[in-house]
Amino acid sequence: MKYLIFLFSICFLSAPVSAQLKYTLTYQDSSSSVVKVTIETAAPLKTPVSFIMPRSIPGTYGIIFYDHFIRNVVAVTDQGEKTSMLKNENDAPRWLYADPGKQVTRIEYEVDLNRMERHAASSDASIIRPGFAGILNYSVFGWIEGTEKQTIQCTIHTFNNWPIFSTNQPSTQMMKGKAELKADSYHTLADGQVFMGPNFQVKEFKGSTPLFVVSYCQTENEWLDDYGLQGRMSMDILQDYFGELPFQHYSIMLIKSLPLEPGNNPPFGMEHLNSSTFFGDTSGIRRTAMSRDQVKRTMPTFLHHMGHSFIPLRCYGDTYRPYVQEIPPIINTIWFNEGFMWFLPYEALKLPGMKTGFENNVYHTSSDIKKLSLQQLSQAASTMYSADFRLGRGIYSRGALMAIEMNNYLKEKTNGKRSMKDVFRYLYQWSKKNGRPFTMEQLPSLLDQACAIDLSTIYQKWQAPIE
Ligand SMILES: [Zn+2]
Repeated sequence: MKYLIFLFSICFLSAPVSAQLKYTLTYQDSSSSVVKVTIETAAPLKTPVSFIMPRSIPGTYGIIFYDHFIRNVVAVTDQGEKTSMLKNENDAPRWLYADPGKQVTRIEYEVDLNRMERHAASSDASIIRPGFAGILNYSVFGWIEGTEKQTIQCTIHTFNNWPIFSTNQPSTQMMKGKAELKADSYHTLADGQVFMGPNFQVKEFKGSTPLFVVSYCQTENEWLDDYGLQGRMSMDILQDYFGELPFQHYSIMLIKSLPLEPGNNPPFGMEHLNSSTFFGDTSGIRRTAMSRDQVKRTMPTFLHHMGHSFIPLRCYGDTYRPYVQEIPPIINTIWFNEGFMWFLPYEALKLPGMKTGFENNVYHTSSDIKKLSLQQLSQAASTMYSADFRLGRGIYSRGALMAIEMNNYLKEKTNGKRSMKDVFRYLYQWSKKNGRPFTMEQLPSLLDQACAIDLSTIYQKWQAPIE
């Protein structure tokens, strides 16, 4: 009997698994900045059918109008009829096809990436340049309502000689012209990024898990080895902090481009489950190897964003969610998501100036910001984190200073035996075990339980406005 079950499960596992949804992304016209997307369902869908574009990305703490760069949204029926879908009358990011009695098998639309780049923040936009397309999947892929949990096969079509790299299935052996990706759900697909074209570099570094550095720089090729070194050092630090790594592979995606419009293009990073993307202009290009000291001084952003693959992407609370949504949530724990993950590079790298930076952001800022409680500031930063970066800096700095104070207190009470490292591990393991977000009521008691030391006085102190 056991043998039969064993045989059966082998057959079951090795049978070809057909995806429930087929996505395609096509970029084959270099005279245009438009990419085409189709979504095909395995079985016809009864009307009404809604198609939705995300407006909320985990970690942006803002609203992004990806729906505004979409055009020609068409529903195709099982009879092959094509009908334009109607955009929501309230400008919600959704389109509807409701002809009674029809069955939909496909949705098609186009995305104008230059329009996106001109109207969205540079760290939220996909870009097209000669010999290169850098795609943030959530900026081009929406979902058909009700299909978010279905498995996906995604095919990318481009020019025959263009290599394709995907953070979902990274490899230095890149397919050219056409690549197939699998994702267990829309959210997994949306979390990824795709680079394609002859004008980017990929280098793999052997770390505790495979690390890929993938770089597009519009004016010249960058020196990649120090990015690799910083990625590997970040992995080592995080492994030490949390006792394990949560990903099977990791990609550092770099985009240094000349802006379409002259203007301020501040460098920004964005975290994903197995990757992070760093955006900026071509100032600060790395041309040669850096000194050990320079490597360390320029490391915090890489460590911080890789650290996000633990907190908040796999350990989070309140209304934050590690996947795209239609409406940005108002979050009370941005100080935890960001502040605790700025504390980590501060503590691990011991760079002079980081703590002074946190203090300046908290104490030498607008009185309008100082008079907000921690919760009010987090709520304001939920949609304006980088739109007015005083709010972003204010909230992460309050969280980092809270963590520094807790760390000092834990060490003092235990003769240096316990620290925030224990708190981080405890919270991460709690999230892994429970598989759900913690509530605002649970959070302070989880912090106390980590080392069985009462941290409530410090926690309460930081809830108040800044004097
Ligand atoms: Zn961050």
